[in-house]
Amino acid sequence: GDGALKYRRLLVKLSGEALMGQNGYGLDTAVVDRLAADLAGALAEGCEVSVVVGGGNIFRGLQGAARGMDRATADYMGMLATVMNALALQSALEAAGAPARVLSAITMPTVCEPYVRHRALYHLERKRIVIFAAGTGNPFFTTDTAATLRAIEMGCDAVAKATQVDGVYSADPKKDPAAQRYDRLSYSDVLAKDLRVMDGAAIALARDNHLPVIVFSIDEPGNLIKVLRGTARATVIHG
Ligand code: UDP
Repeated sequence: GDGALKYRRLLVKLSGEALMGQNGYGLDTAVVDRLAADLAGALAEGCEVSVVVGGGNIFRGLQGAARGMDRATADYMGMLATVMNALALQSALEAAGAPARVLSAITMPTVCEPYVRHRALYHLERKRIVIFAAGTGNPFFTTDTAATLRAIEMGCDAVAKATQVDGVYSADPKKDPAAQRYDRLSYSDVLAKDLRVMDGAAIALARDNHLPVIVFSIDEPGNLIKVLRGTARATVIHG
């Protein structure tokens, strides 16, 4: 049952790097399978789970722009990269026994469903994991902003950003041993201290719509279930 769940409807943001594992590029299928098992476990606990996947393991718009490409075109390539990741995750989820649907903000009906808000809500109610692909569908945005936007549209209780560390620190804990870790932060703390959690647009959107942001480590298997129960070591950003 879902009686023990703190968050009954949660959107998980997975960066492209999270799918890459130790590889320098692309997908590590063993890692994708492990993440899928965690998401399937959350669904089995009774949580309505949706996911926004990044594309940084394949292509980032800023990388293309730095090499002279038109930024908007490069951003569309980045969004297409997220569709590849979404399909890989869907495949792993279905193999793990969790029904999953990919809904893309850039329509490509032979590959996946278009993003239609009511359709996404319908899938969630039918206990399917919804994977949102192609970010917001707009260049000059990020998948962090897409995650916040979709979480608000879906009426999620929170957006959980999966990272390699157990929360938000005052500096990079892998480089600075004096970095201070926060259990809780306000949106304005994040913006004022310029903490590298999500980009400013994503944080501002969360703040304006009172959406809690949970920053947690996905490296530890099973940690997502602890997030759902409110027992994970994580940073919660709220009003
Ligand atoms: N992107 C975009 N609009 C969006 C979301 C993503 O243009 O709404 C592009 C952008 O070029 C970005 C790339 O897609 O660099 C991959 O997304 P992101 O960098 O957010 O992925 P992550 O860092 O989470 O892997």
